[in-house]
Amino acid sequence: MRVLVVEDEQDMAASLAWGLEAEGYVVDVAADGVEGLWKAQETNPDVIILDVMLPGMDGYELCRTLREQGHWAPVLMLSAMDEDLDHAEGLDSGADDYLVKPFSYPVLLAHLRSLARRGFGARPAVLEAAGLVLDPAGRTVTCGGRQLDLSSREVAVLEHLLRHKGHVASKTELLQHCWDALYDGSPSVVEVHVHRLRRKIEAGGGPQVIETVRGEGYIIREEQR
Ligand code: CA
Repeated sequence: MRVLVVEDEQDMAASLAWGLEAEGYVVDVAADGVEGLWKAQETNPDVIILDVMLPGMDGYELCRTLREQGHWAPVLMLSAMDEDLDHAEGLDSGADDYLVKPFSYPVLLAHLRSLARRGFGARPAVLEAAGLVLDPAGRTVTCGGRQLDLSSREVAVLEHLLRHKGHVASKTELLQHCWDALYDGSPSVVEVHVHRLRRKIEAGGGPQVIETVRGEGYIIREEQR
């Protein structure tokens, strides 16, 4: 999952990025509204965490502009307790959820997971395919009730494919959503991880769920045979 954090308070932005990366998210940070808008257009995030009071362009305006341009990533707005967060204006601008600072980290994570579910239409709390179950909250994957020993990157790749069932994900797309923004290596690293992921799933008695679409990428199909 790729998260864009738009926050002008450096300490807040850094601690959010650090914490989210530790949870296995890919994080981009923007320090003002204009940079935030540009990064939202460029990085195609799965969720945007958006501070309301920003230099350049405030959170409301940024959100409204994104929606006008047809960007529909779920937006979680942050405001300080002493700021008068105008929920009506936020809703009109197209935000999906709110959090008032200071907030606890577990609460932020819960909001993000809930938004990620909403972002791709109605989705269950756990992601499933043919007996393979991924729990985004615990970052665990089980197969027939047995837990698989997967790296956080392998979980991220599997999560992306499960969240977009029926859609062929290219290696570039997987790199964008599962590797951090600074990674500039070859897309063949995706092949290596998918290969390892398949081996671990099948060694755990799991199904062959990840299909290769030659020259295009990988897919987990909606209906498993
Ligand atoms: Ca601010």
